[in-house]
Amino acid sequence: MNYLPVFLRIRNAPCLVVGGGAVALRKVELLLSAGASVTVVSKSQDHRILNLVQQQKITHLKCEFSPDLIKGMHLVVAATDDRTVNQQVSETAIAHAIPVNVVDQPELSNFIVPSIVDRSPVIVAIGTGGTAPILARLLKSRLETLIPAAYGRLARLAGGFRHQVKAKFDSIAELVFSGRDDEARDALEQLIEKPDHPPAVQGEVYLVGAGPGDPDLLTFRALRLMQQADVVLYDRLVASEIVDLVRRDADRIFVGKARAKHTVPQTDINRLLVELAHQGKRVLRLKGGDPFIFGRGGEEIADLVREKIPFQVIPGITAASGCAAYAGIPLTHRDHAQSCVFVTGHLKDGQLDLNWSALCQPDQTVVVYMSLTGLETLCSKMIKHGADGDLPAALIQQGTTRNQKVITGTLATLPGTVSSGDIKPPTLLVIGHVVSLHSGLAWYNPDDCSPDTDTETNLHAKSDFSR
Ligand code: SAH
Repeated sequence: MNYLPVFLRIRNAPCLVVGGGAVALRKVELLLSAGASVTVVSKSQDHRILNLVQQQKITHLKCEFSPDLIKGMHLVVAATDDRTVNQQVSETAIAHAIPVNVVDQPELSNFIVPSIVDRSPVIVAIGTGGTAPILARLLKSRLETLIPAAYGRLARLAGGFRHQVKAKFDSIAELVFSGRDDEARDALEQLIEKPDHPPAVQGEVYLVGAGPGDPDLLTFRALRLMQQADVVLYDRLVASEIVDLVRRDADRIFVGKARAKHTVPQTDINRLLVELAHQGKRVLRLKGGDPFIFGRGGEEIADLVREKIPFQVIPGITAASGCAAYAGIPLTHRDHAQSCVFVTGHLKDGQLDLNWSALCQPDQTVVVYMSLTGLETLCSKMIKHGADGDLPAALIQQGTTRNQKVITGTLATLPGTVSSGDIKPPTLLVIGHVVSLHSGLAWYNPDDCSPDTDTETNLHAKSDFSR
């Protein structure tokens, strides 16, 4: 180890920054965030440094650096573009045994400033010994995504309870992350009062939206809960790359549904969630897209509410948002669509029962989930109810995945084009003038590969996905 990582307490301590440019400003702001009393020395200065002077947050000396300025300082940063000055600052500080950092010149510094992930009072510092700042920034961005923003609150809450907290840390942490600070405090207090009888582990359910297919579209919260679940219930619409991100040790239960082929009936899924939670398990219910959009999420949590089982619902990117974005079809647009409706095209007894006059409103985008089987009926009914047969329409196959395909046409032509093509579900139908923007705005063009034949690695089935 070439450096000793330490955290310096510099609140109210005099610190000197030599230099007045943008780089110096960043260091000044960093020192201020740790409460230092900052003096800046420079002949010219960034206007933002002047603002800080006007707000009486720092002192500014408009002069060149001279060695006597260093006396009494607890820490010195040189951030000028003049190597001679930087060298002089470094030598003077080292002669006085004052910690000094020369920006971008580790050889002149006796401390370096790490990349920081700030969840105060928790601070993660990443150093690469000054060799690879880019690597430090990469690591920082990974950690930023992994460490929940509520870590600071958790640390403050746990501060008074150090020893007892350790054992129950996981479950108490999750209470804080989901905003249940009062319950976390109660659990901590119970630990203090009866350290030998920790509170019984209570099961809970995470109803998590997994997005439309691309694993990169998961939310941070979804990923965190996926990594702490004891058991996961997932269905066909969740891509296997996403299921792979669930904690390795978690039990996996497939409750997949293809249209008219319900592997596990909905009531059984609801019951299973309750049973597993009663066993004290952290149960992850992974749903395609968003759980509250054609996902029966409301039904799945109704039983949990009745049984007083704690749960969280984590939104996901719904197929409409994901497919539209990846296909370059803005769902609303000042020139084309002032409203957007989502409907299900699921046939009941071969019939489509929709509010046709509402769907045929002008300047509106209509997104139809579960539309493949009923596509022809839907398009002809809309035309019958007054929609223009030339209205642009697109069918998006397996949106956001490597097998994404966009088939465009009009209300009149699309059903014919689709029936003659080799279409793999799931598919989403988008109707409206915005579809005409697709050819100009499309950006996601997965190599024109034939759809993957490995059935396990893709979102697909032999029939349309539906409820
Ligand atoms: N809760 C989900 C929708 C479930 S209903 C969500 O919010 O997205 C299932 C329907 O969603 C499918 O029939 C299809 O119309 C649509 N769908 C889901 N993922 C899709 C994808 N990757 N590409 C195209 N359509 C998709």
